[in-house]
Amino acid sequence: MSGSSGKVYLVGSGPGDPELLTLKARRLIDSAELIIYDQLPGKAILDSMPANAEKIDVGKYAGNHTMTQAEINELLVRKAKEGKTIIRLKGGDPYVFGRGGEEAEVLVAEGIEFEVVPGITSAIAVPAYAGIPVTHRESASMVTFITGHEDPTKPESGLDWETLAKFGGTIVILMGVKMLGRNAEELIKHGKDPDTPVAVIERGTRPDQRVTVGTLANIADLSNEHKIKAPAITVIGDVVKMHNILGEQRTATEF
Ligand code: SAH
Repeated sequence: MSGSSGKVYLVGSGPGDPELLTLKARRLIDSAELIIYDQLPGKAILDSMPANAEKIDVGKYAGNHTMTQAEINELLVRKAKEGKTIIRLKGGDPYVFGRGGEEAEVLVAEGIEFEVVPGITSAIAVPAYAGIPVTHRESASMVTFITGHEDPTKPESGLDWETLAKFGGTIVILMGVKMLGRNAEELIKHGKDPDTPVAVIERGTRPDQRVTVGTLANIADLSNEHKIKAPAITVIGDVVKMHNILGEQRTATEF
């Protein structure tokens, strides 16, 4: 089938506010033949997919897999080899904790043409809508993005908590809701000030965005009290104090 393969666009959808889609993402979605997506882009964007496009939900959510990553890769390859042009729609940016890099590698190995369309990552945009700049001249000249999603049954965390506890900048955690208590505990155990401000932002940029502010010491209790659920971004560091000064914004409507 060489020469007749289709093309795959790995498209980032941004954090959920449809106006944060790039012009390129919007154009590709609007003219799509086949869209392979999961739930992370959020309702407003998923509802805006054209009625006449073929749509396949590979909807993976932590603990609720409908398709494994290997199956998704296999689907992309198979559909591309059928000659289809595919929009692989992913939340935020495809290469930030999105496994987009793995999908791209498979496409390259199979000789399938692909293009990445970067998106606005939730790691930066979600704190921004919550009034939290991830860097600030006064309080944070560095920022690091980590995954908080570690298997709770694993006795050892894969993250280097010692280095993270010493890190003087902002820590942004993606996928960390279930592990929030353990992660906060690890940072305190390794010497981070328990009074360090923490914000957890659920469904950022969307109409039902919610911000919970606390400290490393009390964020686990607050998370239980507020029944915090994924998708959520956790921000740790003094920049969180900006939330009170800058305030929140979100999309006004569901579109
Ligand atoms: N590629 C994505 C991240 C994928 S990992 C990006 O660049 O944004 C999935 C995690 O992203 C979620 O567990 C959550 O931590 C975060 N996330 C994505 N969209 C979000 C949103 N609108 N609000 C809060 N967190 C979000």
